[in-house]
Amino acid sequence: MKKTTGMDRAVTRKWRPQTQAVRGGTWRSEHGETSEALFLTSGYTYDDAQTVADRFAGEAQGMTYSRLQNPTVAMLEERIALMEGAEACRAQASGMAAMTAALLCQVSAGDHVVAARAAFGSCRWLVDHLLPRFGVETSVIDSADNAAWEAAIRPNTRVFFFESPANPTLDIVDLQFVCDLARAHGITTVVDNAFASPVLQRPMEFGADVVAYSATKLMDGQGRVLAGAVCGTEEWINEVLLPFQRNTGPNIAPFNAWVVHKGLETLSLRAHQQSRNAVQLGEFMEPRVTEAGGLMQHPGLPSHPRHDLAMTQMDATGPIFAFDVQTRERAFEILNALELIDISNNIGDARSLMCHPASTTHANMGEEGRAEMGVTEGLLRINVGLEDIQDIIEDMDQALAAAGI
Ligand SMILES: *Cc1c(COP(=O)(O)O)cnc(C)c1O
Repeated sequence: MKKTTGMDRAVTRKWRPQTQAVRGGTWRSEHGETSEALFLTSGYTYDDAQTVADRFAGEAQGMTYSRLQNPTVAMLEERIALMEGAEACRAQASGMAAMTAALLCQVSAGDHVVAARAAFGSCRWLVDHLLPRFGVETSVIDSADNAAWEAAIRPNTRVFFFESPANPTLDIVDLQFVCDLARAHGITTVVDNAFASPVLQRPMEFGADVVAYSATKLMDGQGRVLAGAVCGTEEWINEVLLPFQRNTGPNIAPFNAWVVHKGLETLSLRAHQQSRNAVQLGEFMEPRVTEAGGLMQHPGLPSHPRHDLAMTQMDATGPIFAFDVQTRERAFEILNALELIDISNNIGDARSLMCHPASTTHANMGEEGRAEMGVTEGLLRINVGLEDIQDIIEDMDQALAAAGI
């Protein structure tokens, strides 16, 4: 394969982000294809026995098996690393494969993990159920409370794990404070950046050690494939993540990697337009929702308790927000009245999608768990898409009216 400029860090590091998003990681075969090639292969062949021996010994570069390396996957990993400003990245089969790998690769029995209370349901399951099964102690805290992070630290604390903005309550973490605190105590921060993507927020600029993704969301952006990624320093990826990943195999399929790679080319355009649409829709809804006794949970609106902080950490606040209409009945009335916006629990998609977290994404947490993290019976979460904002507003207008709002 020809190593084109997309794989040459001396060149790509100088490019501006949008150029990296379109050309970073491009690694052309001898055919000189414009679009990145899709290598649907699990294995590789060698011209002679010594070549493969050298590769297995780590003395020569080259592919040996697609659980260890694949050219299409390598292109995606390089592009994400460039966009994140990370030294290295490894792709995984899904967001949850990424979160699981990022945590399990570095903790052992007797360690302690501090995690944000407000989080994606499966992320909380890792913290509440999986890690304790292997003797890892965990604490969950209010991630918007800086003092709570400090108070939770124990001598054996190894990892801070959180999302910002958080799914589905849109809590914002003070990235600089929490990352500085972690660093001062030798704790590794793992940030789930799925709600922002690297074009809206780069946690490493605030001192985060590891940034993990559900690439299913904004990176694919068109609701097609499951995908995940973990970014970190070259040393951490090679010495901590890779021994775990290579031997447990949470790898992404080359086809899915190729789809996400194509999605990254338009990520910035989509994420910024969807963010603008989300602010416009939020501004339209806020007077009606608050008048009816409800609550907007939208980091792009001044009413969010950490709006100012969100605006300093993020280039834009993203396509997703939540709002509370007090009862499940009212929430269901709104969902059932929608004509354009789909009832769907996915996010990051170019389509506008809305769901009721308490009965879907956070259903298996139980009533007590939901109450603790603010997932109320009247909470609705919306992903604002790329449709014409007037059509989205008109649909929301009539759906709110149908619920008497
Ligand atoms: C969706 C999501 C995940 C899980 O990602 P999958 O690709 O569905 O496995 C993890 N964290 C957050 C914040 C998410 O929104």
